[in-house]
Amino acid sequence: MALLELRNVTRRFGDFTAVDCVNLSIEAGELFTLLGPSGCGKTTLLRMIAGFDVPDSGQILLDGQDIANIPPEKRPIHTVFQSYALFPHMTVADNVAFPLKMSGKAPDEIKKRVEQALAEVQLSRFAHRFPHELSGGQKQRVAFARGLINRPRLLLMDEPLGALDAKLREDMQRELINLQKEVGITFVFVTHSQDEALALSQRIAVMNQGRVEQIGEPSVIYGQPANRFIADFIGKINLMEAQVTQVSGQDMTLEADKLGTTTLPLKQGVNVGDKGVIAIRPEQISVHAPDKQAELPHAHSGKVLDFLYVGDVTTYIVELDCGIHMEALLANSAPGRARFFEVGDPVIVSWTREAAQFLPN
Ligand code: ATP
Repeated sequence: MALLELRNVTRRFGDFTAVDCVNLSIEAGELFTLLGPSGCGKTTLLRMIAGFDVPDSGQILLDGQDIANIPPEKRPIHTVFQSYALFPHMTVADNVAFPLKMSGKAPDEIKKRVEQALAEVQLSRFAHRFPHELSGGQKQRVAFARGLINRPRLLLMDEPLGALDAKLREDMQRELINLQKEVGITFVFVTHSQDEALALSQRIAVMNQGRVEQIGEPSVIYGQPANRFIADFIGKINLMEAQVTQVSGQDMTLEADKLGTTTLPLKQGVNVGDKGVIAIRPEQISVHAPDKQAELPHAHSGKVLDFLYVGDVTTYIVELDCGIHMEALLANSAPGRARFFEVGDPVIVSWTREAAQFLPN
């Protein structure tokens, strides 16, 4: 049985539907992420799981039991917010001890468990400091320790790394993954950052306009996006409008705007006449000098319009002869090579049959 199950959960504010018939199951021990653009309903959903808000319809089950009538403080669930919500007048140790004191635990036990919790988040040395004497990352770790001290069944986190700079965020993402493994508690993480969701999660639910559009492992969400919205929202991708003109055996033939006729592996459920987009990730596109055309699959000639060198990779914008602009990502790992092409260079771009996907409208 799933630890947490949402069944047809809906929340309306006036005539606006913020969460629209959401169904999902989260297993015990998962690091699960709700990902979506600002305003898609992530926080509203999290607040209903925590008990701070109530669904208009649908059910939230924990261990198979409907928790509608259990107030937030009685649920075995803790929420960590981006703002840390630490008590400024209390030391780190007192902040972490607070939930135990509230539940009337004995001083000896509190001391032992606070020491253990601070060790888990590598803050033992900071027990006697006050929040204003800590960095952002350290404050967030105190919030995690406080969230974990009562060993909740579920730890909910709403953009907990949102206030940290990029480098620290990455460190904290690794720490969170390790912490989750160590304590074995189910984490539900909310973010609008696709990079963060891909890096952190065992599974992701992608939300858009109150609905869950796809649930899956990061590699599936990235590699086999269910639709155009997800393809576009997660990472960079080239999208070309196209229509299916023929389906035969293992193949489907598409007529793409400007690009012309192209053949891709048949996708289940696709019929002649379906419209949608051909989607290709930039790292799936290769760029070659123009003498190579004969040997390459799905090859199109063009010229380099622009490029962006960012150290490990260079992104090239290539204008194909048909007028389409395509983005290709080349790793700069070849020794001594920082740039392969200059602006204006004639090039051939190509991709394999498997690299391109058709996403119906
Ligand atoms: P963000 O990433 O910006 O925090 P989110 O995905 O968490 O966004 P929510 O905070 O869940 O989005 O809000 C979803 C929608 O519901 C938004 O359009 C928001 O304006 C609306 N909303 C949320 N709470 C209320 C409320 N109490 N009254 C009216 N509208 C609300």
